Amino acid sequence: MTPTTHNATIQVLSTASDITSLPSGCIFVATMGALHEGHAALIRDAAQRARGTSAPVVISIFVNPTQFNDPADYARYPKTLDADLSLAHSAGATHAFVPDVSLLYPLGMDAAKSQAAAITLPPVATQPNLEDSRRPGHFAGVYLVVWKLFELVRPSAAIFGEKDWQQLQLITAMTAEMNQRHGTSIRIIPSPTIREPDGLAMSSRNRFLTPAERAIAPAIHRIMHEARTLTFPAVAEAHMLQRLQHAGLHPEYAVVRDAATLLTPIPGIPWRILVAARLGSIRLIDNMAW
Ligand code: AMP
Repeated sequence: MTPTTHNATIQVLSTASDITSLPSGCIFVATMGALHEGHAALIRDAAQRARGTSAPVVISIFVNPTQFNDPADYARYPKTLDADLSLAHSAGATHAFVPDVSLLYPLGMDAAKSQAAAITLPPVATQPNLEDSRRPGHFAGVYLVVWKLFELVRPSAAIFGEKDWQQLQLITAMTAEMNQRHGTSIRIIPSPTIREPDGLAMSSRNRFLTPAERAIAPAIHRIMHEARTLTFPAVAEAHMLQRLQHAGLHPEYAVVRDAATLLTPIPGIPWRILVAARLGSIRLIDNMAW
């Protein structure tokens, strides 16, 4: 298929030959679509970095089946392609890569799942009582899809949100491995979390919150702030669990860790507060520097 043009300015790439026509060295933002201001900030950051160079600003939109451990979550993941292309364009993207599942997983889903299961994840992805304990298999799917996207898109740099802090650490480790194996020099650039005025971190899934849940959700951000005023990580963790429950959330974890390794924090090295909590049918994650 010939790349199609949206709004006369963003090129939509969907086939293998479309993507090979893309010059290498772009600045890349990988997403699952249902774009919001958090994504727009990443794209604007990419466009800013590309300014004055000939580097394309490429966004991918792909709801990756191998990273969903809940089939219902995958089935209902919001799809808003036209609005996404407009937002990506106004934020400064020059190209949108929108592949079919069969382009990324040509051997079918069973083969893709086996491939993901065979991945040895870097230690940062599997630290206890974080994402991997609650979403087994999720990070293998993320690792696999970002590896494949990088091979196809061949970026010089990729921007990832701090909103998904553990994912950002995983991608950083994965990219170091890829750079070493392929002789590439892809750079991973973190971008800060964009929040609603009341502190709730923006997320594509927030649209599923009922008005009553939406009113409760900003408690996560408030409670992380409170935790930072306490002296010891263990005290902060107990405080967060108790306060989250009291606010009507169902915490999965609320921890203080070494920001880079996600191991137990050591004085003198940056720490990170990480929280995951359920609210109705939605799972919310957030984090903050200690
Ligand atoms: P997703 O579409 O949820 O897979 O996210 C795509 C990228 O956008 C990831 O790098 C996320 O970390 C980032 N992102 C999602 N929400 C936000 C946010 N509220 N602020 C900053 N970055 C975000």
